[in-house]
Amino acid sequence: MSGRLQNKNCIITGAAGYGFHYLSKNSGIGIETAILFASHGAKVILSDINQKSLDIALAKVKHLVPHAVLKTQHTDVSKEAHVRALVAAAEEWGGVDVLFNNAGIMHPLDGDENTDEKVWELTHNINVKGVWFGCKYAIAAMRKHGRPSSIINTASVVALVGSAASQLAYTASKGAVLAMTRELAIVHARHNIRLNSLCPGPLNTPLLQAFLDTPEKASRRLIHLPMGRFGEAVEQAQVVVFLASDESSYLNAAEMAVDGGMTRAYVTSE
Ligand code: NAD
Repeated sequence: MSGRLQNKNCIITGAAGYGFHYLSKNSGIGIETAILFASHGAKVILSDINQKSLDIALAKVKHLVPHAVLKTQHTDVSKEAHVRALVAAAEEWGGVDVLFNNAGIMHPLDGDENTDEKVWELTHNINVKGVWFGCKYAIAAMRKHGRPSSIINTASVVALVGSAASQLAYTASKGAVLAMTRELAIVHARHNIRLNSLCPGPLNTPLLQAFLDTPEKASRRLIHLPMGRFGEAVEQAQVVVFLASDESSYLNAAEMAVDGGMTRAYVTSE
């Protein structure tokens, strides 16, 4: 199991999730990925806008992977100076090899075409600009050291299929992540840098479960899931490990739908 990410310096944005205690259940794709990256031998920088959750996340990874080499960096991905400093923080290890642009929000007031402009701007500043800033500084660092490098950008299944339950600012932001990732993957294909998108289906994480706050909203989604359940964050993290490692060395510009078959299904019922 161990060693798949040996000698890789990895950065994860939105790595904290919403843990309340370091022994509590994990809560997000970022923290699950940090645990797996560390257990596969990577050096990991966990970053997040929420310092308190970040401290808990660090304690959690240390508890589960005692020998891991870790650090944290408080980062708001919508702020360019923060992201520049985040990527620079990997320089003392020799520079970043893997960037997982995972931070993202789905605003509770996001809706259809009448979504408030402030909700739109906040969503796009984090979900799109944050990914762009990450790519901008990580690609520069990766080109400098020249080692095989990987950037994984988190989109969503709503970037692949139209959602009847509208969250327009979020959907548009994730579509932008797909397009940006695809183009940068082609531009940098000869620079030893791979870029791929992760498109998670609906997961059992606080971000979505806060949005699906009534049984009616939840069942409206569940009916479309061939496996009859939401995915788990760790099921995304397992794919991210593959995309980060050299095992996926010929995978570039891919849109990995990790959705239990949702985007390939016509109709499902009991
Ligand atoms: P989560 O809410 O558990 O984690 C998101 C993290 O991002 C949190 O720790 C939060 O503090 C952090 N964050 C928010 N704004 C930030 C900012 N400006 N700068 C830095 N960090 C910030 O969410 P999750 O469900 O694990 O989602 C992770 C990613 O997966 C997001 O991009 C999300 O859009 C995407 N996604 C999630 C689902 C799902 O069902 N949960 C489905 C598809 C895509």
